[in-house]
Amino acid sequence: METGSRSYDPLQQSSQFIKGVGPARQVSLERLGIRTVEDLVMHFPRAYLDRRNLVPIGRLVPGMEANFTGTILAVSPRRGRRARSILTVAVGDESGVVNLVYFNQPYLEKYFRQGERVVVSGEMTIYRGTRQLVSPECEAIGSDLTESLIHAGRIVPVYPLTAGISQRMMRRIVHGALEKSSGAVPENLTSALMREFDVPPRAEALAAIHYPESLETLERAKRRFKVEEVFFLHLLLRERRARAGRERKRPPVPPPHPLLERFVAGLPFELTAAQRRVLGEIAADAERAAGLNRLIQGEVGSGKTVVGLAAAMLAIGKGYQAALMAPTEILAVQHFERARLFCDPLGVRSTLLIGAMPKAEKARAQEDIRSGSVDLIVGTHALIQDVVAFKSLGLAVIDEQHRFGVKQRARFGAEEAVLPHYLVMTATPIPRSLAQTVYGDLDLSVIDEMPRGRRRVETKLVPADDRGRVYGEIRAAFERGEQAFILYPLVQESERTDLLAATEEFERLQRDEFAAHPLGLLHGRMSFEEKSKAIELFRRGEIRGLVTTTVIEVGVDVPNASMLLVNNPERFGLAQLHQLRGRVGRGGAAGVCWLLLGEDCGAAARGRLAFFASHDDGFEVAEEDLRLRGPGEIWGYRQSGAPGFRLINPLGDHELVRLSWDAAGRIVERDPGLGLAEHRPVAYYFHRYYRPKVELAEIG
Ligand code: ADP
Ligand code: MG
Repeated sequence: METGSRSYDPLQQSSQFIKGVGPARQVSLERLGIRTVEDLVMHFPRAYLDRRNLVPIGRLVPGMEANFTGTILAVSPRRGRRARSILTVAVGDESGVVNLVYFNQPYLEKYFRQGERVVVSGEMTIYRGTRQLVSPECEAIGSDLTESLIHAGRIVPVYPLTAGISQRMMRRIVHGALEKSSGAVPENLTSALMREFDVPPRAEALAAIHYPESLETLERAKRRFKVEEVFFLHLLLRERRARAGRERKRPPVPPPHPLLERFVAGLPFELTAAQRRVLGEIAADAERAAGLNRLIQGEVGSGKTVVGLAAAMLAIGKGYQAALMAPTEILAVQHFERARLFCDPLGVRSTLLIGAMPKAEKARAQEDIRSGSVDLIVGTHALIQDVVAFKSLGLAVIDEQHRFGVKQRARFGAEEAVLPHYLVMTATPIPRSLAQTVYGDLDLSVIDEMPRGRRRVETKLVPADDRGRVYGEIRAAFERGEQAFILYPLVQESERTDLLAATEEFERLQRDEFAAHPLGLLHGRMSFEEKSKAIELFRRGEIRGLVTTTVIEVGVDVPNASMLLVNNPERFGLAQLHQLRGRVGRGGAAGVCWLLLGEDCGAAARGRLAFFASHDDGFEVAEEDLRLRGPGEIWGYRQSGAPGFRLINPLGDHELVRLSWDAAGRIVERDPGLGLAEHRPVAYYFHRYYRPKVELAEIG
């Protein structure tokens, strides 16, 4: 594995060259993917302990997050009430003694040895007059001064571990690797880029990410490595896109855009500043040779659909067709109706295309699409079936893109002779869509502003036995003329029984609690006609309450619906709940969302839902979802082929992601082969290290 020319690069040496790593530990390290010194220094901490202020034991006070060193004076295991094992470890220094207490972990006993020096972190408490810390972090530090400087008296790294390597050992090994490689860490950004990203040099950041002097230097070090995670990937994507763009061009759509201007002027409302900005970004893209290839993210109700339609006017104004694909027939019809409202007066000819249309009608739509006698086509995945041939598709818009499969998305417009401009929209900043931002070669726009008058939806957790009270409040609101969604979960595995639940509950509610108010039923197994009829009745107010499933998640836009009752909310993801919550509070009355907890809803789920209830920003909600579900699984890194993302969180860091994407674009535009002298540090890392790694992963 080691080549001759690299053998004197300390970073490429085997990790066995580090003191403390013998053959057995090397095997353990390899389980963590660590083979070289470089792998060791790139083994970043998973957390940090702030052990800067070591306090004499005599000065510990209750309630204090304490860090101190001392010597183990006594280790006493005993049995408490109900045979609970209690391990008490007395630790002392010149100033005093304190007890560390561990419950039900009898195996810990063997780790504590009398006379050993330890460093302890934890919260000081008082129990029956005795000062103690319950389950604190406690590590032996030995008497060696440099040793104790690695483990205490500073901000200390906590590493991911594997069997056979303790925290203390890992710290010592990584510290050794840092010492060995100091002065040999090559810079991979230009100083201009470092200024632009506002990050420290690589060597400095590497030292600081392991042993930061302050929380501020730690943040800057993390920022530096976040940049590395996205920037080189963006260079790669930009380079590929530039190459593809040279091969297959999109039809340029230059200004002026009189049709678009008339469309905007004819809207019954003013576009928000965010909508206008995103529309500007779309128009600027469409004018360029590389064309429009953009993901629009925005909260439910932020007005993405209107922006999608406006984009369609760009293409239609130049004589092309534009198509809008929605994930459900209900949503497609709703978009179609809204589109006609805005577009008919402009003389734009439009058609619907969905599977549920009568055969003859569908055939006519297909013929109109083929002959070019319609400009705007709104539909479902029926649009990507083989029988559909566009006369001249200039723009493909995908709404709620996360509901489509990767292949479906890729097919839309891909078989046209001329590559259409491409716009995808999503309300759910779910990881998949974000991963796509990073992997999927799309530009990103965010509509980060709601139309005026939109109010926050009040969200309340309700225990299962409080059901009756909620029904009472819903009845009262019905009397005031408001409307409600009553939602039951629908899980794939037990779809039939769940449906039964929704159907039975509908009948029961109509008979009992809501005997005086007309209810309706809407679920995914109903025919298109049945669904349309239910929604129509609900929209007209003839149905006051709609008993339903997650079919309403996307796109059912009924402004008079102010209330949402979610049964068993613990069975939903937070991002999905947020999406559902966006269905209410769109009209005059303030929105309320009740989360009616299931009988067996656990404490963790309750905590998750409490977070949801107190946060109404979709980005924050999605971030929490990410945090709870863990990045590894959600990101789909493995299938991406790119070197792992460990620090970047495109949700929270989308500013940085955008900065990186722009910088990469500028560099590739000016210097496609990275041949300029000023780009040497970037080029070296990119060509020698980054690209081969990605390409290897993509092949394998
Ligand atoms: P999204 O697709 O982002 O969930 P929509 O485009 O469906 O949002 O818009 C939600 C509702 O808000 C629609 O009824 C739409 O007509 C309306 N709307 C969109 N933009 C504005 C605006 N700037 N001002 C007022 N209402 C708007
Ligand atoms: Mg929408």
